[in-house]
Amino acid sequence: MSAEHHSATEIPARLRLVKEEIALAAEAAERDPASVKLIAVSKTVPAAVIEEAIEAGQRLFGENRVQEAQTKWPGLKQLHGDIELHLIGPLQTNKVREAVALFDVIETLDRPKLARALAEEMEREGKRPRLFVQVNIGEEPQKAGIKPEETPAFVALCRDTFNLSIDGLMCIPPFHEEPSMHFALLAKLADELGLDGLSMGMSGDFVKAVAFGATYVRVGTAIFGERVLLD
Ligand SMILES: *Cc1c(COP(=O)(O)O)cnc(C)c1O
Repeated sequence: MSAEHHSATEIPARLRLVKEEIALAAEAAERDPASVKLIAVSKTVPAAVIEEAIEAGQRLFGENRVQEAQTKWPGLKQLHGDIELHLIGPLQTNKVREAVALFDVIETLDRPKLARALAEEMEREGKRPRLFVQVNIGEEPQKAGIKPEETPAFVALCRDTFNLSIDGLMCIPPFHEEPSMHFALLAKLADELGLDGLSMGMSGDFVKAVAFGATYVRVGTAIFGERVLLD
């Protein structure tokens, strides 16, 4: 798989370019560029290649599989204490213990059973990763996430029943649709709920996501190159 990744020397330049595009998009939207954080999505990327991004100054990373992250990140985090690792893929309740131990932010809270399991594990472990609720913004049957109209009740359940504090909302718009109206809807939902965090935008659409208020963009391919394995 690593043959398809950009050579190590390209990664700093790619990172710079993505950050420049984020800053330009923020300025065009009259937003502070520092209000948009770049998560480098390193799923399928080997630890040695991730190191190149860390050396170039990148500190926020995203992984979509707990098991894969466990093979790469404990070592990297030990070497670099200020890494912030985001879980951006589905979380099974039988992986909650590992996820709470390893991740600083869990972006894919999407059902009551998971909220309960996270609350119990966070209490037990005394460690509280920040939490985002994943919203199924395009209401796609096969996709994870809370339906938009059910999001307020779910956020209230997390807070009131499970004593979880929610930092924001995350979405993955339908692949074949123009994402703008989905980004706008997620921003509106977050605003109505008084949530500051908005995780939206990937390699193909992060500039648009910034225009609609993203505070985190999740960018993989534009930094590390095409993935061979499907995610
Ligand atoms: C893989 C992935 C990304 C990054 O996608 P790219 O198109 O490679 O930038 C962002 N968010 C999620 C949830 C992902 O699984």
